[in-house]
Amino acid sequence: MPQQQIQHVFDLSQEPCELAPYRWNRHRRRDPSKFAGVVLHEWGTRVGTEQRFRLRYGEPLALARRALAAPYTISCGVTRADEPVVALAHPLERYTYSSDAGNTYWISIGVMGLFPFESAQHDPRRHSEMTDGLRAAIAGALQLAAGWLALCASGPFSVITHRQCANGPGDHVVCPGEAVVEAACATLPPSLTADPDRLLLPEFGRPWPASWRRHIAPPMQVPLLDEAEDAPRIV
Ligand SMILES: [Zn+2]
Repeated sequence: MPQQQIQHVFDLSQEPCELAPYRWNRHRRRDPSKFAGVVLHEWGTRVGTEQRFRLRYGEPLALARRALAAPYTISCGVTRADEPVVALAHPLERYTYSSDAGNTYWISIGVMGLFPFESAQHDPRRHSEMTDGLRAAIAGALQLAAGWLALCASGPFSVITHRQCANGPGDHVVCPGEAVVEAACATLPPSLTADPDRLLLPEFGRPWPASWRRHIAPPMQVPLLDEAEDAPRIV
């Protein structure tokens, strides 16, 4: 597994699958050599842990293990003390139907929490807070995904959202919300590029709205080498 900088990163990909039978498919497998990037999701709910599991596993692992019952390849969240937690919850080859159009060639990251479509709609009574710990967890999840992508496929790799791979008129075009997009854009590994206009099923998918787009970092300016300093010249 690629090296991680945050403390609580768990590889649960070899644990028994906890998804309901209709939420994954053991016969349809993904080919990681064809991966194209990362697709971002929110869980769409606050995510906590039960005391009996905290006692058994400790809180970080208890939280990570909740990811086993969600369809995202990687999930990330925070403990009550805002410690970042990242879980690789499924083997990369597992097809889990998480936003079907985006499932075959994309590593999904599910951010634990409920976030509004646009951050201006944030209601502290309903929505999750984007804390420093959660930002670190998202950064760790992206780093983990980028590490696996580099090992499996040749790139280039892009970052899209569930909104862009909606499957039908009732699909979640608000997922993952501006707060998640903003946190992800702030910590994209160099090998991942935000791809706000790519639509996997153009009849249903939607490009990023302006509120999400404003978080895309401008491309790094690489100074051109001054020819005179290019190489020492032998006279
Ligand atoms: Zn989603």
